[in-house]
Amino acid sequence: MPVKHYGWRSNVSGKEEWEYLKEITKEGKLNVKEVSALLNKKYKKYRKDRTVEGIRKKCGAMGLTLAPCVLSGDGSRWNVKYDKTTENAFLFSMNTALLTLEEITNSLNEKFSGCRPPRTEEAVRSKLYASKLSYISKAPEKGGRTFLEPEEEPRILLWDIECTHLKADFGVILMIGFKFLEEEEVHIIQINDFPLWQKDRTDDREVVKAFIEVMKTADIQVTWFGTYFDIPYLQSRALAGGMMGPIPQIPHVDGWWIAKKKLCLTSNRMANVQKFLNLPESKTPVSGREWRRAGAGHEDALEYIRDHCKKDIVILEDAYRTLRPLLPTHPNYNVIKETLYRCPVCGSSNLIKAGFRITRTTKWQRFKCKEKDCGAYSSAPVSGKRVVR
Ligand SMILES: [Zn+2]
Repeated sequence: MPVKHYGWRSNVSGKEEWEYLKEITKEGKLNVKEVSALLNKKYKKYRKDRTVEGIRKKCGAMGLTLAPCVLSGDGSRWNVKYDKTTENAFLFSMNTALLTLEEITNSLNEKFSGCRPPRTEEAVRSKLYASKLSYISKAPEKGGRTFLEPEEEPRILLWDIECTHLKADFGVILMIGFKFLEEEEVHIIQINDFPLWQKDRTDDREVVKAFIEVMKTADIQVTWFGTYFDIPYLQSRALAGGMMGPIPQIPHVDGWWIAKKKLCLTSNRMANVQKFLNLPESKTPVSGREWRRAGAGHEDALEYIRDHCKKDIVILEDAYRTLRPLLPTHPNYNVIKETLYRCPVCGSSNLIKAGFRITRTTKWQRFKCKEKDCGAYSSAPVSGKRVVR
């Protein structure tokens, strides 16, 4: 009688077939392909072959153990289609942002050993990248670099103003010195750079206007005592005479504030902190006479103050680099550059784990930045679980 390839013949029951399946998978030594070969061979006379996937599902449902799929002879590909979803789910279940690439690669390879050839760190790295998952990079080997390209850096604007009087309704801005952190040169926008100066020695509108254009391109601004002087002074001059509106709001790091809150010194003036930290380049004193002459429009006095202003910016930069890791509210690099796992202060990816920070509700993995001029501590929550508190 010809084999009818539909349904069961009366002399083989489903129960009998699945009993056989239980029998051959008892020791868990056969993989799904070997099991289907046996099963289909035995019941070939009675019905169509079952698919490998069908058997895999059935075994899963019945709680039967299958051996991991083995590699083909040359070890280069699967002999049974590999279930990628399982691997991805496993990857997402790991908190990769708190692990090094090596740790992720090892646990992935351990979990799926026997299922496929071990992945290299490079392969795992691109897999993580494609899945938008992050990881901690290892401390680089000697001479290794983990820095970003300079054009990727946030624009950190260091600036300082020089004026004729300490209050903005009595004084005007003579010049504004600034530089971006990665730049070599200090720039000065000076009152006598503009033709208005020839007519009126106290008209600083063009200075303010030009500097606001610079501010618009900055991600972070750095000053010394800017909270109470430079920023409100500039804002006042921008509003003087109803000429200009508000100045741009930029996340602000005030070196004076860090010194006041995080150090214990007799004076938080920049010159004192600079001396205390032994930073190079000392401030040049400006006498009352120079200020008066500059205010009155003597160009040699303006040149002298220009030189003083340039030096101030250089000291400000050194002080900023030294003090910024002390500031817990430093603008977060990861937010500015939309990264996940860099040092929030300096943007280095050279972080190492440094214990935990435990608050009443959350456990945080603490990191330390390994960059020579940073060393900031930062942390990321280990779990987002809500707990009874
Ligand atoms: Zn750092």
